[in-house]
Formats: sequence, structure tokens, C-alpha cells
Amino acid sequence: MKIKDKVALITGGARGIGKEIALFFAREGADIVIWDVNLEQAQVACDEISTLGRKTLADEIDVSNYAAVEAGINKILDKFTRIDILVSNAGITKDNLLLRMSQQEWDAVLNVNLKGTFNCMKAVARPMLKQKSGKIVNIASIIGIIGNPGQANYSASKAGIIALTKTAAKELASRNINVNAIAPGFIQTDMTAKLPLEVKEKMLEAIPLAKLGNPSDVANASLFLASSESDYITGQTIVVDGGMVMA
Ligand code: NAP
Repeated sequence: MKIKDKVALITGGARGIGKEIALFFAREGADIVIWDVNLEQAQVACDEISTLGRKTLADEIDVSNYAAVEAGINKILDKFTRIDILVSNAGITKDNLLLRMSQQEWDAVLNVNLKGTFNCMKAVARPMLKQKSGKIVNIASIIGIIGNPGQANYSASKAGIIALTKTAAKELASRNINVNAIAPGFIQTDMTAKLPLEVKEKMLEAIPLAKLGNPSDVANASLFLASSESDYITGQTIVVDGGMVMA
């Protein structure tokens, strides 16, 4: 088992990519905390994980609210005494063309995706610094690297996460804390299910491996970055996209 008896917090883990990461981590021996705005779904995910014999905690936390995040971290420490892994995965889209994008659409996406990641990293850094160990995995997107029409807010938030990852990696490296990001391409989840068919077909044409990704593809990369196999890697962004974006 790659992360046996580690305590892992996964934000937005009630469904989609986050839930898959939680299941992968539990199968590899970790105890799992799921934060989500949808507590009912988060509890369903935790109930499923409990059948794998791991301890779980589901909590209703909006990652854009720092006070809630800090209280949530204290709750985890009360129950598990430590936090070894953070996967900052909670994210939303509110697409619109730049000229039509409202202040609310901009603020909502930046608040959840970028500020939410900042909030979780800041709050989790305290116990990790004390432990002198930790693994932080931030879920960005290839859209944060290449941009995308209609996603000014989303692309800026994800580019911000990539930069934030590098800065935190430099700040926390001396305490044995690795901070990396994953930039998924087009992964089949509820988030992408709502895209129009023509957009999906166009994206498929641009994928060299000629298929969409699955949440398990992102979960595999997350597990690598959360395990000791990646101990000498920090500040990096691993692109999981079937070859769409090549540096
Ligand atoms: P998803 O199916 O929409 O799941 C996201 C989860 O996050 C949902 O359970 C959602 O709750 C929760 N959430 C939303 N706002 C939150 C908040 N403020 N605090 C806590 N939880 C919150 O999304 P996904 O496709 O699995 O995506 C997961 C991550 O991967 C996101 O960061 C996304 O940007 C990134 N990503 C996805 C793709 C893709 O192709 N799917 C590609 C690149 C990057 P609700 O049930 O209330 O919505």
C-alpha cells in the first residue's frame, strides 16, 4: 500500500474526480476526510469508503470561506491528530465571454477555485509544518496553461493555482512538504457533461490519444504525488490530458 495510515483531506470529494481520488487513496491505505458543499453526497462517498475498512470524516465546508476551512482543519486534527495529504480539488465553472462576464461570475469562480486553494493550503500548512512532512496536490487545468474562449475566470483561477503551487513549494520545501499540481485535460465528469456536443467533438479532435480521460487517470497521478514515490518532485504541474498540451 502506497499511503498506508496517512490522513488525506480531499476537497470537493463528494463526486467526480475528487471522489475517485478519495476511493483510490482509501484502497492504498489512507484514512479519508471529504469536504464538500454537498454534505449528503459527501457522506454517501464516505460510507462507500468505510466499506474498504478505512476511517472517514465528511464535513460541509465551503472552501472559499477561510473561517470554515480553519474550523474544519481543527476538527480533522481533533479526530485524526494529523493531516498528511491535502488534495485541493473543489472547483466550479461559470462560463461567459469576457465582454459578457459579470462581476459575480468572475468573483464566484476565483473565490472557489483560487482563494479556496489558498485557504486550504494556508490552513493545512500549520499542522504540516509542525509534523515536518506533508504532500499537497492542487487540481488545476490545462485551461490554466492554454486559455479557452468563454473561460476568462476559470483560466485565470487555474493559472493562479499553478503559480501558487510553485510559490508554496519554495516556501515549504525546507520542512519536507511537497506541493505539486495536476492539470487535467478533458475528463468525463458532471462538469464536462454539461458542455455542448460540438464543443466536445472539437476537443476530441485535439487529443492525440483520441479519447476522453477518466477520473481514474487524475486519481493515479494524484496518488503518485501523494506518495513517497514523488519525494524528489515539488513545484511541478503534471499534465493529464491525452497529449493535448505538450511543453
Ligand atoms: P464536479 O463533478 O463538478 O465536482 C466538484 C465537486 O466540488 C462537487 O461535489 C461540488 O459540489 C464541490 N464544490 C463546489 N464548490 C465547492 C466549494 N465552494 N467548497 C467545497 N466543495 C465545492 O467537478 P470535477 O469535474 O470532478 O472537477 C474536479 C476538479 O478538477 C475541479 O477543480 C475542476 O476544475 C478540475 N478539472 C476538471 C476537468 C474535467 O474535465 N472534469 C478538467 C480539468 C480540471 P456540488 O455538488 O455542490 O457542485
